[in-house]
Amino acid sequence: GTLGPVETAMVDRRQRLLGPAYRLFYETPVHLLQGQGVWLHDPEGKAYLDTYNNVASVGHCHPRVVAAMSEQAARLATHTRYLHDGVLAYAERLLAHFPPDLAHVMFTCTGSEANDLALRLARAATGNTGIIVTANAYHGVTAAVSEFSPSLGAGVPLGPHVRTIPAPDARQGDPAITFPAAVQAAIDDLARHGIRPALLVVDTVFSSDGLFTDPPGFLAPAAAAIRAAGGLFLADEVQPGFGRTGSHMWGFARHGVIPDMVSLGKPMGNGYPVAGLVLRPGVIAEFGAKARYFNTFGGNAVAAATAMAVLDVIEDEGLMQNAARTGAAFRDGLQDLARQHGPLGDVRAAGLFLAVDIVTDGQPDRTRAARIVNALRDERILISATGPQGHVLKIRPPLVFSAENAAFFLDGLDRVLTRLA
Ligand code: PMP
Repeated sequence: GTLGPVETAMVDRRQRLLGPAYRLFYETPVHLLQGQGVWLHDPEGKAYLDTYNNVASVGHCHPRVVAAMSEQAARLATHTRYLHDGVLAYAERLLAHFPPDLAHVMFTCTGSEANDLALRLARAATGNTGIIVTANAYHGVTAAVSEFSPSLGAGVPLGPHVRTIPAPDARQGDPAITFPAAVQAAIDDLARHGIRPALLVVDTVFSSDGLFTDPPGFLAPAAAAIRAAGGLFLADEVQPGFGRTGSHMWGFARHGVIPDMVSLGKPMGNGYPVAGLVLRPGVIAEFGAKARYFNTFGGNAVAAATAMAVLDVIEDEGLMQNAARTGAAFRDGLQDLARQHGPLGDVRAAGLFLAVDIVTDGQPDRTRAARIVNALRDERILISATGPQGHVLKIRPPLVFSAENAAFFLDGLDRVLTRLA
């Protein structure tokens, strides 16, 4: 595609107004005005199939969520230093989806803040400073959290107290053995440098590492290893949480492990900034005795009402069940396509989180992946690519995605692969 004059001017204005650190998706950026369900619309009214957005998880501008948000905004919009039932009712509702050991929730506005808070609590609870993450993890933007977000690249150095371990890729050996062994090796390396571990942090589907979900179970021995060394286990559920994997509300639950802390974000408010940290009360005893916590916008009345409506929709519309059903059919369709098109390699999926490697002669091909992503964009189908080598198509639609939407995507991908062949 080519960029129209309005969009060309907008690209220049972004540079001038927002500065040099922002990046747009696609060679021909997409200009959007409206969203509804799984569809996004540009100013000319052209529709794009959103196969990538896990923020608008219950569908763009879901009427029930919008109504709850606007009704609360019209009544009272204030914070957690007054008594208000909304935040308590939501906390009860949310915590009912967790094992009883995880009995507190603290509210933030972003996933980054939730992970930053987790780090502060872990330091206070353990007296330690070391952090272990996977090699291409992303956990957020604060000064402390960017130091353990290796996917930000060489321009954002890791902290001296941070160690990375390989993602649990089942093609490299049984993750039930390799993953806890890697955690132990990182603990040992920290110890050689006089550092004891505070935290093992994992995105429980390893999204930015390229999606590694199977076989479930390997997080349990990894959590045991970090605890034996005096550290805590933080499950970052910003990507897999709220039912996306189809079988469970949370990615950690697939592995039969109970984390010490769980960070939540993105889909929690379907676009309204709501995020949080769920935790075992013992974790905050030390911190709570000395420090107070207040987040002006975190858990405000509008945030609580919006997040409550999101949970209502997930439950009432059976969206986790849809993620399982539609995700399985979608994965089968991708596997069929992979048998017909050489560039499609390994297919991995859990519910409505799907990934497919793009390869040339069996080797990762970043350039080809980018070409496919941009060609799909020209077909008005939106996805992206991820992984340390940028060769993994990342497919992560709103959970209201239907079998017809999946067929539409697969047709588009088939056409694109045929054209690019
Ligand atoms: N953790 C993970 C796994 C994420 O994907 C993200 C956002 N991409 C974050 C944390 C940070 O969330 P936020 O952008 O809301 O700060």
